[in-house]
Amino acid sequence: MGMLMPSAFAGRLLSLLWQPLISVRRSLQLLLCWLWAALRLPVTERGQQQQIREEPEETSEDKEEEGIHLPTIPTSVNYHFTRQCNYKCGFCFHTAKTSFVLPLEEAKRGLLSLKDAGMEKINFSGGEPFIQDRGEYLGQLVKFCKEELHLPSVSIVSNGSLIRERWFKNYGEYLDILAISCDSFDEQVNVLIGRGQGKKNHVENLQKLRTWCRDYRVAFKINSVINRFNVEEDMKEQIKALNPVRWKVFQCLLIEGENSGEDAIRNAERFVISDEEFEGFLERHKEVSCLVPESNQKMKDSYLILDEYMRFLNCRNGRKDPSKSILDVGVEEAIKFSGFDEKMFLKRGGKYVWSKADLKLDW
Ligand code: SF4
Repeated sequence: MGMLMPSAFAGRLLSLLWQPLISVRRSLQLLLCWLWAALRLPVTERGQQQQIREEPEETSEDKEEEGIHLPTIPTSVNYHFTRQCNYKCGFCFHTAKTSFVLPLEEAKRGLLSLKDAGMEKINFSGGEPFIQDRGEYLGQLVKFCKEELHLPSVSIVSNGSLIRERWFKNYGEYLDILAISCDSFDEQVNVLIGRGQGKKNHVENLQKLRTWCRDYRVAFKINSVINRFNVEEDMKEQIKALNPVRWKVFQCLLIEGENSGEDAIRNAERFVISDEEFEGFLERHKEVSCLVPESNQKMKDSYLILDEYMRFLNCRNGRKDPSKSILDVGVEEAIKFSGFDEKMFLKRGGKYVWSKADLKLDW
């Protein structure tokens, strides 16, 4: 009996503690489950976010493959409002075939309809956009797009020869990016190409514009067309010294009716280079980190181009076939005839950080 007492006591004690022990075990299990879920969930979420970021953007064409017909969104538009220019580049692919320019209010009406259709970036080009009304016409459009349409990005492509500091004072705050065309740092080559302007030195002018862009807080970009006369040049040091946000390097392109064919004002045949020669130029400049190359293939259909009548220009057949004007038929109807290749636009990096507020520049 004396021997049974401790074991009976132990049994009694165990039965008393059994339920609390089970409930502690359950609580521990629950706690472990909760901890496991809490630690694992953010990883899973991060993984999903990563997937979202890495997922390529779905284009209208993708949707159409799925049987959904969506209108093309004119996210980024190039408006060549004038064909007039003070230079005579031998390969020019938007030549002075007309002297027409829309009245300012009509141009604004078209820009408003593009904004309503989804435009986020407008680029003004030509011809030479500063030629009209000494840059006042352009200044008014730039101000309208930034101040009234609130477009994230407003940019200009210019040869730079007609820009004055006063223009920066009046309109610089409304402009995100100024791209200046420069094909060579050798003035003699510029003259051969047709960019020479008498006593004015294109390269010296480029340096002055770079300084104004810094002073008036406009992002500075350089565009170069690689052709027979500059394909052997080494521009690394000069480009690095100018330090543009982007250096767009295009392969010289033939467009029937502009710089090729019987009814063209220019004949660019003698400027054309092979794909291998273009690759050679890119290879020589590969250490320039801001270089963005554009071969003929990438360039042809990946731009939404509006001409001086606000008609989309379709380049699919190697020439510029116009749609009806967006002022007459609206954006949605006209854009169907634009020939725009949205996939190529995204592939060539057409969508980039294009607002100066987001560029975080070291002015
Ligand atoms: S500066 Fe531009 S628009 Fe003027 S001729 Fe040269 S390529 Fe053509």
